[in-house]
Amino acid sequence: MRRPMLEIVGLEKRFGERQVLRGIDLRVETGELVFVIGPSGSGKSTMLRCCNRLEEPSAGDILVDNRNIMHGSTRDLNRMRLQVGMVFQGFHLYPHLSVMGNVTLAQRKALGRGRAEAEAKAMEMLDQVGLAHRATAMPAELSGGQQQRVAIARALALDPKVVLFDEPTSALDPELVGSVLKVMKQLKEKGLTMLVVSHEMGFAREAADRVVFMDQGVVVEEGPPEQIFGAPQAERTRAFLARVA
Ligand code: ADP
Ligand code: MG
Repeated sequence: MRRPMLEIVGLEKRFGERQVLRGIDLRVETGELVFVIGPSGSGKSTMLRCCNRLEEPSAGDILVDNRNIMHGSTRDLNRMRLQVGMVFQGFHLYPHLSVMGNVTLAQRKALGRGRAEAEAKAMEMLDQVGLAHRATAMPAELSGGQQQRVAIARALALDPKVVLFDEPTSALDPELVGSVLKVMKQLKEKGLTMLVVSHEMGFAREAADRVVFMDQGVVVEEGPPEQIFGAPQAERTRAFLARVA
């Protein structure tokens, strides 16, 4: 049985006069990896940011595990934010904290976990991203790929229901991209629900369950990777793929 973990319904976003999202409908089923592609400025980041209300939607609903995050108290919103993990292009680690400090901070402050529990969870997540041996390192001692894997471990340590990735490998040197994609693929195999904005088309072919093509604030087309890359239906999808291929 399919069960939606994240549902975006009729999502609109305006910045002043400018309408950036024009009615987005998108579902991510439990355990699914949905990949979002589209030209720069098409609204991909804004859509992800609306999913945990880092950006306030102008209209529409966001449901996480069947709960509408557009309603409810501030307390509900804060709890919900923890359930929607975010991994950004820039890793945003705290430079003055060790790897362990980075992965335990939100667990302790936001979830109220004690030190021992937070550290045990951190070690488990660092092990998943292949960095348990670097727990005492400072971020500056790590490569960009390692820093991004720490950022992934930090998101996972909060037991999110879904993790949103916004161009997670775009800031990395080419030789470091593979290590991050490998971790993402392993997470998918473990059943994590993921919504990923990325230009790594090879990875999409390999790991995505569905690919969504966005342009000018709408979903133009979606389907399995074989269909979107092999036989795109919309002219705009074909034109975009011809440019990036
Ligand atoms: P993408 O991630 O697909 O490149 P974005 O969601 O970042 O697209 O941006 C979509 C459009 O919204 C762009 O034209 C961008 O300039 C505009 N935009 C994004 N954030 C803001 C903001 N805070 N204020 C005004 N315009 C914004
Ligand atoms: Mg973006």
